[in-house]
Amino acid sequence: MFEVESGIRISGTSFWLDATRKVPFSFVSHAHSDHVRRHNKIIATPPTISLIKNRNRNINAIPLSFGEKFELEDISIELFPAGHILGSAQILIQRDDLRLIYSGDFKTEKNDTAEQCLIKQADILIMESTFGAPQFVFPKKWLIIEKLVKYIDNCFSKGFIPVLLGYGTGKAQEALKLLGDLDYQISVHASIEPAIKVYEKFGIQFKNYQTYFGEDMRNRVLIIPPHFSRGNLIKKLANAKKIVLTGWAKQPNAKYRYGADEALPFSDHADYNQLIEYVRKVNPQKVYITHGQDHFIHDLKREGFDAELLHPKPQLSLF
Ligand SMILES: [Zn+2]
Repeated sequence: MFEVESGIRISGTSFWLDATRKVPFSFVSHAHSDHVRRHNKIIATPPTISLIKNRNRNINAIPLSFGEKFELEDISIELFPAGHILGSAQILIQRDDLRLIYSGDFKTEKNDTAEQCLIKQADILIMESTFGAPQFVFPKKWLIIEKLVKYIDNCFSKGFIPVLLGYGTGKAQEALKLLGDLDYQISVHASIEPAIKVYEKFGIQFKNYQTYFGEDMRNRVLIIPPHFSRGNLIKKLANAKKIVLTGWAKQPNAKYRYGADEALPFSDHADYNQLIEYVRKVNPQKVYITHGQDHFIHDLKREGFDAELLHPKPQLSLF
């Protein structure tokens, strides 16, 4: 039903899923820049299109809302929420009675700034497994939030400025929502603001924040994208304490790699247990893994699933 060719192409069509090079027509699962190329035409959810337009105004996009159907040659397409960032979508493709789901990046646990992830059944599943190894079992969200709050309050009591490192689309908004609702006062790096405006346009409300312009940071939290963690802005804040929010925090030395003082496994991906549970619920006859950990293939086989890694075989024709 599909071929792997600069991404995944649906056989008999010129329609790709998250194509990795410029193609005539691709589904774009979400607005993270590693998934977005300058395709001739894309299909994506309205929030994803708005987030992409922030960076690249000239895109030819077909908006498809969750649950809406789109017919393309002999296939029918439907998008449903992936819970990863605002607008992130999984895609269900049906040809005759055969159902294929491509997950994109997803997170099954509740995220107050993304639509709640849904899980549907399919014959063929193509999925990410970023955290598909047992070391990536994340603590309950409230425990992570409790740690984050303690760290921030401790910084305040010692006269430090807590600086949260989170990707500018998704993670930064999730942290902003969480801390604003807890009545913290927050400054955000200017590069994050356009995406915040898109979130607001789609009904997510944020409290107590402003764009950082060198204001007095006493008792304020600063949110910046991780790649600014070693930049001039931080160097000027002599008493900053940096906390990186990422699932990779479960790896030893993660905080050093991010140039941070602390790392918390606050992730926008499913953890290992949630990935396994997800496959059980989709209950496919065949699972293909993208962005994966070899370990996960073995674990799925042990669960009785026919599982295979997709990416190392870029020209393989599967059907
Ligand atoms: Zn992503």
